[in-house]
Amino acid sequence: MGLDGWSFGGMVIRDLKIPRSNVLHGEGKGLDVLKRHFAYWRILISMLCLGSAYQAIEETIAFCKERSIFGGRLSDLQSVGHRLAESVTYIEAAKSLCIKAAKAIDESSNNALKLSSMAKWYSTEVAYKCLHMCVRLQGARGYEFNNSTRRRLLDIEGFLIADGSNDLMKSIIYKELVGKHIYNKTLLR
Ligand SMILES: Cc1cc2nc3c(=O)[nH]c(=O)nc-3n(C[C@H](O)[C@H](O)[C@H](O)COP(=O)(O)OP(=O)(O)OC[C@H]3O[C@@H](n4cnc5c(N)ncnc54)[C@H](O)[C@@H]3O)c2cc1C
Repeated sequence: MGLDGWSFGGMVIRDLKIPRSNVLHGEGKGLDVLKRHFAYWRILISMLCLGSAYQAIEETIAFCKERSIFGGRLSDLQSVGHRLAESVTYIEAAKSLCIKAAKAIDESSNNALKLSSMAKWYSTEVAYKCLHMCVRLQGARGYEFNNSTRRRLLDIEGFLIADGSNDLMKSIIYKELVGKHIYNKTLLR
């Protein structure tokens, strides 16, 4: 769909021997190490998506200022201005959440996992919503194959899934909220 510059594929490792001195954090602990880094990656993905959405808003403002419609500029319409104002506000709110989550990671806070999951879910959805609005505001121009806003929208779709889908983010938040003892352990360890 998007991320044309990326290549995707699976990797199968069979009968690979690793020198004992190269084993990090002990045998069978690889997944735990990976899980610890998810919080960082989720913030990176969040900021990447918000940056992309913000850039799309700038592209869209430039388009709206240029586009003449019914004797005026698209940017003069109040409803257009409101949509753009809402979008930058959502982005600022998401950015604040990302900064809070990043701080929690830096401080090794117990809230780091919950906050980074909140940030990833919220930021990617906000970015998606803003990009969708930007593509629509650009009319047929937004739908063109080479339109950068259209491409951003397709790219962001991948980040709703990557590094744990947003459904999973909500499950993590819920698990942190209700406590590990109540939550179905087989779903999220
Ligand atoms: C752009 C991109 C980059 C990626 N990069 C990497 C990478 O670098 N390394 C790597 O190993 N993998 C990578 N992935 C894979 C990614 O981690 C998985 O696609 C992701 O974890 C979701 O798993 P899945 O595709 O098997 O979907 P599934 O787990 O099959 O999910 C299918 C649907 O079910 C929903 N769902 C799943 N579980 C639940 C639940 N408990 N409750 C409610 N709904 C649920 C999901 O939200 C989704 O909508 C990448 C994927 C994408 C799209």
